[in-house]
Order: sequence, then structure tokens, then C-alpha cells
Amino acid sequence: MEDCIFCKIIEGKLPSKTRFENEDLIAFEDLNPVAPVHLLIVPKRHFSNLYEMTSSHEGLSLLSKLHQALPEIVRVCGLESQGFRLINNCGEDAGQTVMHVHYHLIGGLPLGPRII
Ligand code: AMP
Ligand code: ZN
Repeated sequence: MEDCIFCKIIEGKLPSKTRFENEDLIAFEDLNPVAPVHLLIVPKRHFSNLYEMTSSHEGLSLLSKLHQALPEIVRVCGLESQGFRLINNCGEDAGQTVMHVHYHLIGGLPLGPRII
């Protein structure tokens, strides 16, 4: 998708600190980390947000593949025993700023109070 920062990273047109990649997704370090570990897990196919992704069979199937890769990504980050949060901001009210669906994987210290 033109003018999408994450599509450009996926195409290698913008740099990223990639920690994991397979044919379906890429996981790279967030530019503005909020914790010692802060990765963005991004499907290579462009969907604007999680709502759009889960509204199609193909998106749902990709989401399943993303979750299948999660244990390996967590191990790459060394978070398998400490734990982590996986966060998705979907749309305007959730404060989504990059309109290419992604999960934030954060961890590496006690993460403090939860909203939910
Ligand atoms: P969200 O607000 O949930 O859409 O999250 C977007 C995230 O993308 C923010 O945490 C930004 O810090 C991060 N971000 C934006 N541009 C880049 C980039 N070029 N490389 C890595 N992370 C980025
Ligand atoms: Zn995109």
C-alpha cells in the first residue's frame, strides 16, 4: 500500500531493527519503545486494522499464523518465563496511529497497572 510506513519497512524501503521474520509476518523494534522489549508484530499483507483483518477469511487465517509464530517471537525476546503484554490499538478511539494492523509486544519489566 502506497504511503504506508509499515509496507515500506516490509518492502525494505525503510530501515527497521527486525528480530523475526517469516513468509507471513515481520517483527521489528518500535521506534519509541515504552519498555525494554517493545516489538511490533506486523502481517506482511496490508490490512488497515484488526477489524478489517478479522472481517475476511484470509485475514483470519493470517491472524492464526501470526499467533502460531508468537511463541518463537517471545523466545527471541527472552520473555517466555517473565511474561508480556500483547496490545492492539484498533482505530481512532484506541489511538491507532499507523494504519497497518499490528500488535505491540511489550515486556522486560513489571508493566504496572492495567486498564483492563
Ligand atoms: P499505534 O499507535 O498502535 O498505531 O502504534 C504505532 C507504533 O509504530 C508507535 O508505537 C510508533 O512508535 C511506531 N512506529 C512508527 N514509525 C515507526 C518506524 N518507522 N519504525 C518502528 N516503529 C515505528
Ligand atoms: Zn501497509
